[in-house]
Amino acid sequence: MKISVIGAGNVGSITAMRLAQENLGETVLVDIVKGLAEGKSLDLEDARAVLKFNYSIQGSDSIEAIKGSDLVIITAGLTRKPGMSREELLVKNAQILKETCGQIKKLSPQALVIVVTNPLDLMTRLALETTGFAARRVFGMGITLDAARFSNLISKELKIPNSDIEACVIGPHGEGMQPLSRFTNIKGVALDEFLSEEKINELIKRTVERGAQIVSLLGSGSAYFAPSAAIAALVKVIVKDEKRTIGVCALLNGEYGIKGVCIGVPCRLGRTGIEEIIELELSKQEKEALLASAGRLKEQYNSLTA
Ligand code: NAD
Repeated sequence: MKISVIGAGNVGSITAMRLAQENLGETVLVDIVKGLAEGKSLDLEDARAVLKFNYSIQGSDSIEAIKGSDLVIITAGLTRKPGMSREELLVKNAQILKETCGQIKKLSPQALVIVVTNPLDLMTRLALETTGFAARRVFGMGITLDAARFSNLISKELKIPNSDIEACVIGPHGEGMQPLSRFTNIKGVALDEFLSEEKINELIKRTVERGAQIVSLLGSGSAYFAPSAAIAALVKVIVKDEKRTIGVCALLNGEYGIKGVCIGVPCRLGRTGIEEIIELELSKQEKEALLASAGRLKEQYNSLTA
């Protein structure tokens, strides 16, 4: 399987490293900055001798290198500065996304596309429209990371391993995300049984704020170790056709009462992309919050494309 990562910055290069080292496919890394992707790929290639692996990695400053990819991951774009919202990145990253997706359509017409660039939900919608690919083939990595963050905070609070926790987050990859304690379970038992409402609310707040907290501590750029791990997890599900249920940003077509909006929901993923969108039985309050987020995304998307 040929997997291309567009953008050789923090997220893109660590993603390429994870994909190559896990032998998930022939990995190609591309960046517009001359020499950047090639230099990082040579460095990653040299690590093969130390690790005694023979993975395939190639870097280029030409988008032509993605030709014939089975899977393309878009990490090209600007990151948040301290105090900046994901939405402020919108206009600049929309331009990059459009250019990139035009090339994906031309060079890799059969590919699945994972969007990572922020603001994630809007960029996923734009990628779908620009490529014209079927909805099952284009989705975003956002709540995959948010669920990992929620799980990590629960694990630390309860002093239990992450492997025992199935965390559930739905909604946009941003302030409107909803970590759902009722659908988060530890070995099948709902989180509500383990922690007080007050403690759960504190963990939810910390999950929602985690990205901004990291941006503020770093001073420049945003998170990349956990994001690249979440991307690699999605790629593994696809490459190995695992058919696991995992949260991604998907185009809804009536599910949850939402149409024409890309937003985070649990989906069953496999080699052909999204195989099923899972509809959770949300409470009235959860559903209203999801609908409100979808309404905001629709408005923002309409003004972006007006
Ligand atoms: P970065 O600045 O380290 O890297 C971005 C790279 O994109 C740069 O090397 C830049 O040269 C390259 N680039 C810009 N335009 C390009 C183009 N047209 N073609 C090819 N490459 C191009 O940023 P990063 O930390 O890697 O983050 C990348 C994006 O991912 C940002 O938009 C960030 O907000 C987003 N992000 C999303 C999540 C998520 O959960 N969805 C998590 C972390 C970061």
